[in-house]
Amino acid sequence: MTTLFISDLHLEESRPDITRAFLTFLEHRARGCEALYILGDFFEAWIGDDEKTPLQNQIAEALKALSDSGCRLFLMHGNRDFLIGQDYCDRAGVTLLDDPSVIDLYGTPTLLMHGDSLCTLDEEYQKFRTNMRNTQWQQMFLQRPLADRQMVARQLREISMAKNKGKDEFIMDVTPEEVVAAMEEHGVQRMIHGHTHRPAEHPLTVAGKPATRIVLGDWDTHVWWLTASADKAPELHKEPL
Ligand code: MN
Repeated sequence: MTTLFISDLHLEESRPDITRAFLTFLEHRARGCEALYILGDFFEAWIGDDEKTPLQNQIAEALKALSDSGCRLFLMHGNRDFLIGQDYCDRAGVTLLDDPSVIDLYGTPTLLMHGDSLCTLDEEYQKFRTNMRNTQWQQMFLQRPLADRQMVARQLREISMAKNKGKDEFIMDVTPEEVVAAMEEHGVQRMIHGHTHRPAEHPLTVAGKPATRIVLGDWDTHVWWLTASADKAPELHKEPL
């Protein structure tokens, strides 16, 4: 039995190639697997479960079919799709996971995160993140008409793109001390996250012992996924999109 991890697909209407790659991934790679974890930024944008675009519906149906076939599905919010709600998860047969979450991955406690909360050098973004994750703000936002929300989402995206252009590379990556602190806090020697679009396996030392941080890749030019099973250490894979 195999468990799969993916993140940062950034599914959107303007990238039908990514949607196709994901549907193929579900049919071939994910068929028969024990569990599939999606660690955030699955969709490029999310402004409420009531939007119900054809793309969102198509993806929910495909996920539901995999879930019905016996694969357990888990979804963690990213910084772009943090408004995905229980309604969509129910339609897709997916369990919403808290960020962070610790799972028992074939006997090894493993910390799962999207990864944006680890980029603490980007103080401006962390302030924005705190505001966006405020439940009251979210409830107010979700009550606004769809067209309003679509406009706000477009504006936020433009602002974010303009701001990130001027930021140094190291600011956009995780803060090493933050990684160690999170792993020590949760008592784990292994972490899996996405967000930075820098797929790699990083050895490090946590609590005086060897540890691993695995970064998942984004689906812009390649399909990236991580496999784990009882008899094999987690392994990153990629193939052209
Ligand atoms: Mn992200």
